[in-house]
Amino acid sequence: MIVVNSIADVRQRIGDWRRDGLRVAFVPTMGNLHEGHLTLVQEARKQADHVVVSIFVNPMQFGPNEDFERYPRTLEADSAKLESVGADLLFVPPVEEMYPAKSNTCVEVSGVTKGLCGDMRPGHFIGVATVVAKLFNIVMPDVALFGEKDYQQLLVIRRMATDLCFPVEVVGVPTVREESGLAMSSRNGYLSDEEKQKAALIYQVLQGAAHQIEEGQRNYRQIESVVIELLAAQGFKPEYFAIHNAETLEPAGVNDKSLRILVAAKLGQTRLIDNIGLNL
Ligand code: AMP
Repeated sequence: MIVVNSIADVRQRIGDWRRDGLRVAFVPTMGNLHEGHLTLVQEARKQADHVVVSIFVNPMQFGPNEDFERYPRTLEADSAKLESVGADLLFVPPVEEMYPAKSNTCVEVSGVTKGLCGDMRPGHFIGVATVVAKLFNIVMPDVALFGEKDYQQLLVIRRMATDLCFPVEVVGVPTVREESGLAMSSRNGYLSDEEKQKAALIYQVLQGAAHQIEEGQRNYRQIESVVIELLAAQGFKPEYFAIHNAETLEPAGVNDKSLRILVAAKLGQTRLIDNIGLNL
């Protein structure tokens, strides 16, 4: 695996592959890699001749009181994991490479950024869309892979890629979970053992809501408020539990056939998100 830090080096390496007519897949990450990330890389390998991974903790997508400073940075372990699953090129830019001093441009997607994490984390999706647009322009991949774990983010990237005419196919990959059902996340490392056990409840309430809907319950707003109360009673600080249309990400109505149930809740200082899909 080649490791590079500059945009010029990425372009040179990938340019060589392109001239040979090879197909390039791209997996952007913030590092502290787990099985979820590695599954994206394995999927990427199936879709292209070469796989490029980036590790960049993007300051622009963190709010002022969020965990940018303490976000885990574990480059050595990450590199070894990426080698083991056959990544070809790892791009690890310093902040100044991605945001030179005079940078003054951002990408703002509307519609799917409204509600959910878009409301709870003002400016977050501008940071995400901006950095991914820049990375797409640097790597120019044929295909880019994103986890369904960050479902709203996946829809934001799809919308951006279509709207800005990026010639890239955006592929979503199902969420990889711990045995307990807890969605794997770099932030799970913040949880104590006790909190980690408790965090499994997040997936259980998602499944419980899906089950109720499958059984015919159509009062979605009632399911949402009951689950929010339940999470609060169990010591979570729920931000949202929401049953939405899977494509528009608007609150679901009784005629919607493709649903996404999404949740965000804090456990102690750790913010957890998860979601599942449901077709009626
Ligand atoms: P992050 O490093 O958290 O920015 O995540 C990088 C990519 O990995 C994003 O596309 C995430 O959606 C994806 N990802 C994170 N956790 C998981 C998971 N448990 N299963 C599948 N994909 C994931």
